[in-house]
Amino acid sequence: MSKIPNTLREKIRQDAGNRCGYCLGRQELVLGVLEIDHLVPTGTGGSDDEDNLWLAFRACNNAKSSQQDAVDPLTGQFVPLFNPRKQSWWDHFCWSESGVEIIGMTPVGRATVIALDLNNVVSLMVRRNWVNAGWHPPIK
Ligand SMILES: [Zn+2]
Repeated sequence: MSKIPNTLREKIRQDAGNRCGYCLGRQELVLGVLEIDHLVPTGTGGSDDEDNLWLAFRACNNAKSSQQDAVDPLTGQFVPLFNPRKQSWWDHFCWSESGVEIIGMTPVGRATVIALDLNNVVSLMVRRNWVNAGWHPPIK
């Protein structure tokens, strides 16, 4: 992590729109600093190169851990996790009517929602407050 130059960290942050690539949570709405996510984990050969990096909340990053693929709960098939650098969030996920829950619309989306625990109780509580404040959900 520390090998990534600050200039590259800042570029990743800007390219990611200062929000988590997996749940779209915005930096300005949380106290914790969004961290650099290795799309392919360093433990399995992922590099510190720009094309392997994106931005994520610590909770999302920790839940992802070393996973690169996961089971789609609908089909039982192993599929790659969502790649926020190469794929569009809106192609794979949408917001529930309440704006609080993330719904996976594709095998990749469904597997990622489960694998990264994107609808954990804390996230739901926080997003509910964001919705009440008029800050959420983001629009495309
Ligand atoms: Zn997130």
